[in-house]
Amino acid sequence: MNEIQLRALAKINLGLDVLRRREDGYHEVKMVMQTIRLFDKIRLIKRTDGEISIETNLPYLPNNEHNLAYRAADLLKKNFELKEGVHIRLFKYIPVAAGLAGGSSDAAAVLFGMNRMYQLGLTLEELMQIGVKIGADVPYCLMRGTALAEGIGERLTRLPACPDCYVLIAKPSINVSTKMVYENLHANELKIHPDIDGMIAEMAKGNLETMCDKMGNVLETVTITQYPIIDTIKNFMKEHGALGSMMSGSGPTVFGIYNDLTVAKQAYFDLKMSHFAQNVYLTTMFNIKGRRY
Ligand code: ATP
Repeated sequence: MNEIQLRALAKINLGLDVLRRREDGYHEVKMVMQTIRLFDKIRLIKRTDGEISIETNLPYLPNNEHNLAYRAADLLKKNFELKEGVHIRLFKYIPVAAGLAGGSSDAAAVLFGMNRMYQLGLTLEELMQIGVKIGADVPYCLMRGTALAEGIGERLTRLPACPDCYVLIAKPSINVSTKMVYENLHANELKIHPDIDGMIAEMAKGNLETMCDKMGNVLETVTITQYPIIDTIKNFMKEHGALGSMMSGSGPTVFGIYNDLTVAKQAYFDLKMSHFAQNVYLTTMFNIKGRRY
């Protein structure tokens, strides 16, 4: 095998709670992670000269070790003393710095693909242990599907699949620093927390509507205060038939959940026309059942 083509899928958070700020500065979280069918395309091509190289369609993305996909290849090569190298062709569709874990998912796909291409024989768990060295979201991006992330995000438990639905994704043209959001959260003084366990229970019963009622993201308190456009998009989606609408991760991407394709399509077109968002996509949840890259 000299080449392999992969899809690196984005994630959204159906629930995001921050339980406390630890003494070491890390935040203890409780998040419901969900993979969606929005993906970057990655082609890995063997290099016999042992070098690692990367090209992307976005001129502002690093094409060196600062790119998470490059870092994943470098880490595997060093860990396993691989003689051969790899050229990574990365085509980004997932908006960058959006709360959709695009970079982490690219890294996960490279780990998965190189394991195959070089027949390293690593299990998913072993790949996840390597992945966490690149970023806290990388193990989840390897696992995919519906999962609960606890601790600092690295402790993962598979959850029953989220009921089928349509997902409207909108990223406004603002840049949000995850670091800034956590610094302004004051996690130990939060009075209101989303009912993550209740949400999971509704999801497990297949109750999409009540699941949506219980969705919550504690980071909205910081990001929306600074960027009201996020609230504008959330309200727009709800007024256009979404069962629920929320910010993903630390933002700024907003998603809306729909159970009716016609309603979702209309909301997609209206949102595009509104110019509230720079990127708008209509997609579905990715269910892990029997599917790999
Ligand atoms: P998260 O949801 O984990 O917070 P995110 O969606 O906010 O992630 P990413 O798109 O993963 O953010 O990118 C964040 C930063 O990482 C960007 O500033 C970008 O320059 C850098 N980066 C490095 N490699 C990549 C990559 N392969 N794709 C996107 N960004 C990358």
